[in-house]
Amino acid sequence: MNTKNNVLILSLLLLCFSAIKAEKPHVLASASIFQDMAKNIGGDLITTDLIVPIGGDPHLYDPVPKDAKKVVAADLILINGLTFEGWIKKLVANAGTQATSVLITEGVDAIRSTEYENATDPHAWMSAENGKIYAKNIYEALRNIDPKNEKQYEENYTKYIAQLDALHKYIHEQIQNIPEDQRVLVTSHDAFEYFGKEYGLQLEAIVGISTEAEAQTSDLIRVTKAIKDSGIKAVFIESTINPKMIKQLAKDNNVIIGGELFADSLGELDGPAGTYIGMLKTNTDNIVRGLTKGEELRHKHQDQSSSTNWIWYLGLGLAFILLLFLVIKKMT
Ligand SMILES: [Zn+2]
Repeated sequence: MNTKNNVLILSLLLLCFSAIKAEKPHVLASASIFQDMAKNIGGDLITTDLIVPIGGDPHLYDPVPKDAKKVVAADLILINGLTFEGWIKKLVANAGTQATSVLITEGVDAIRSTEYENATDPHAWMSAENGKIYAKNIYEALRNIDPKNEKQYEENYTKYIAQLDALHKYIHEQIQNIPEDQRVLVTSHDAFEYFGKEYGLQLEAIVGISTEAEAQTSDLIRVTKAIKDSGIKAVFIESTINPKMIKQLAKDNNVIIGGELFADSLGELDGPAGTYIGMLKTNTDNIVRGLTKGEELRHKHQDQSSSTNWIWYLGLGLAFILLLFLVIKKMT
């Protein structure tokens, strides 16, 4: 091969290399909540992907082979930490990626578990104030891997922080509508401690900070007592958890299901809980509605079911008369 050809090949290689480098930074988030935060700060300057699909449970997630490919394709990996994604360290190490991993809870005042020594509660994003810390960590990570677009990232970040400030104010104001003695939140798993601490709600969950734990009879007794003592009229199901136990608890205590809450995953992308901000707003609205109008909603539900019963009895009565008529007709 002559020198001219060598130069040509080298130029082509350089051209390919610069084309690859010109691609947008690819950001991989462990869960949907953090992917949405990255989209808000990165805008059109980045591409994003996520590991645990919407509606999946990150506590119990079992990585599949395509996740390793996602890790390899990433420039930046966003991790919550605080034992939320116990599987991710191994996944990243085994994939052998060049990507930068960032702990987006860095700087959060983590709540310690009362149940397990040295364990922390991972659900820090449930307070909009903490959401601002996540946003800051994501903004700084994007600025570091793509410094030429720093200005645009900063602009997006500042705008997002203003939205989170408005959200924080909204939640705070809405919770004030719940009578003080009714500010008790009963859910499946203990994902709302940060929310409760920030906005003034007492939390009672059937299982602990991870969905891995099994519910014990003592847990059900404790939660039942909390419902009776406070006189709350609603308990809440969670989008990523089987609602069977909460439904039974509601039935046993004659309270309603106040609605679906989103803790470990966003809702469907085209729905009201399809963004981080939308998710916290939806949770707040459902909690306030359930805890202030629970009694009213329960009566409505009872009226509806008693009218359904009435129609059913009428149908049964008519069928009986028809049967009787046929029997008599046959006999005569
Ligand atoms: Zn959780």
